[in-house]
Amino acid sequence: MESWMEKAGNIIKNGGLVAFPTETVYGLGGDALNPQSSQKIYAAKGRPSDNPLIVHISKFEDLAPIVSEIPSCVYALRDAFWPGPLTIIFKKSDLVPYETTGGLDTVAVRMPVDPIALQFIAASGGYVAAPSANLSGRPSPTKAQYVIQDLQGRVDMILDGGPTEIGLESTIVDVTGDMPVILRPGYITKEMLEQIIGKVDVDPTILDVACKERPKAPGMRYRHYAPKGDLTIIKGTPEQVISFINEKTTENKEQKEVVGVIATDETKDRYWADVVKSVGERQDEASIAHRLYTILREFDDEGITRIYSESFEEGSMGQAIMNRLLKAAGHHYISL
Ligand code: AMP
Ligand code: MG
Repeated sequence: MESWMEKAGNIIKNGGLVAFPTETVYGLGGDALNPQSSQKIYAAKGRPSDNPLIVHISKFEDLAPIVSEIPSCVYALRDAFWPGPLTIIFKKSDLVPYETTGGLDTVAVRMPVDPIALQFIAASGGYVAAPSANLSGRPSPTKAQYVIQDLQGRVDMILDGGPTEIGLESTIVDVTGDMPVILRPGYITKEMLEQIIGKVDVDPTILDVACKERPKAPGMRYRHYAPKGDLTIIKGTPEQVISFINEKTTENKEQKEVVGVIATDETKDRYWADVVKSVGERQDEASIAHRLYTILREFDDEGITRIYSESFEEGSMGQAIMNRLLKAAGHHYISL
């Protein structure tokens, strides 16, 4: 009898879509070498088709056929971080359709470490194109139930692997130029990359907290990873942040809003909001990353209309956490 994994693999080989767990977030998979499959992925997510997909492989030997060049630093990156939460951008080969790369001559490739993901990719013929398995603009799914909420009826199968371990998308590094460049921060930090391959640049647009620190009108900025409630990030000393958020909470409650706060274990008991959720201890970056999208989704389910979050700039993963939080907030950021 056909196993679930064979069934999932055959769906992909026949041009269908399967959502699957990885160590970062759930992915929405299709055959990366089939242009119709990639078009289906964009349609299912409601994603603009110029936003490229990541091609997932299950073994390093499968990399060469889909890229036109493997820069030497990639072998060191492989030894250090693959399989794992690192996506590498290469010049693509002719095997990869432009539908998968959003029209680009480059292709993003990742080898996840999650055993279900690896088995599924192998069962699917080796090349699974997958963005995160959420509707475009929503927080990436960290549990199968969130994939069901967003995509049920739009995919042929959902593989449930339980909650994802990391909870934030992979780090993306582009190695097609003279100097490697981080295009998206993640669990693998700049410092970790630099230990292996020397100096790495960071795309300046992911570091631009400072120049966007004034709250902007809703809809002025492209929102991504966004909850349904209106999210604002507040930066300052713990005392400043707590009293500012409590003042706002009083105002918002008078206007019949339901208020949620993203706090830490150290501060969670001091807020007056309707619902207060802790991302864990402030020192525990892995916990913050792990909890973030789940909390945003929980606020949606609980009907929260107004959300305030503490700011998390410190630490080595601070960049990745703040990059996602700022996008989720449509860059509503108040520095006290
Ligand atoms: P997601 O997994 O939903 O975050 O989607 C894949 C991400 O990878 C998108 O943000 C893309 O912009 C990025 N990506 C995929 N391919 C490329 C590429 N060739 N160059 C730059 N970024 C890419
Ligand atoms: Mg995504």
